Amino acid sequence: MTRVLAPNPSPLTLEGTNTFVVAEPGAGTAVVIDPGPADQGHAQAVVRACGGREVELVLLTHTHVDHAEGARAFADRVGAPLAALAPGWATPGAPDLAAGDPVAAAGLELLPLPTPGHAADHCCFELATERAVFTGDHVLGRGTTVVEWPSGDMADYLASLELLLRLHPERLYPGHGPLVTDAVARVEGYLAHRRDREAQVLAALAAGDRTPAEIVARVYAEVDPSLHPAAELSVRAHLAKLVHEGRVHTDPEGGRFTPA
Ligand SMILES: [Zn+2]
Repeated sequence: MTRVLAPNPSPLTLEGTNTFVVAEPGAGTAVVIDPGPADQGHAQAVVRACGGREVELVLLTHTHVDHAEGARAFADRVGAPLAALAPGWATPGAPDLAAGDPVAAAGLELLPLPTPGHAADHCCFELATERAVFTGDHVLGRGTTVVEWPSGDMADYLASLELLLRLHPERLYPGHGPLVTDAVARVEGYLAHRRDREAQVLAALAAGDRTPAEIVARVYAEVDPSLHPAAELSVRAHLAKLVHEGRVHTDPEGGRFTPA
């Protein structure tokens, strides 16, 4: 497994997007996961990282631009099919990831794990022989991921974290940040973080906050204000879960929230 870092650093993408080149040693072909942004230099670096192997298959963890913007052009360039869970993205000859069957390529088997939450179309890939999972934006190498309302779903996200935990992975290869070697502890930490955030959202409502912006100002007071718009989408994802569970009420416009 080789990681190629894309030149798109930002507060949400950390050092940039991790593009992975995966192949069994000795295999004549490789799989590329998340080609990343549309950037010629990055595409060339990924081809170089293939070390003369032909690219047999391109996989997407999800279709956000930092992972997928350059995917079609990259797949065309190397003449490989592109597979993704998102409707309309897969090209002819690509495996159907939704079927959940292991994908055999480059001498390896990668098991698609539909993991909605960060995005509805998110898919991790398990490399069972290494007890490793390519996690895209489901779990990052550092910090926490954003579950953005309305495309993200907090209830789905928590269920997808539980799914990952049940695999007892040893290593995670995230879409951003360093590789994770304490995988179970990291996923448990993510679950605890979301439970804490949910408790904080409920406490903010109990203290009289009524709008997502008010809740963000209280709960994310120590976070860089440039991240508050993203945090508001995460708070809305928590609120949507709590409304669905009947623990919080909202008005017909969905702008104000009260404890049930
Ligand atoms: Zn990303």
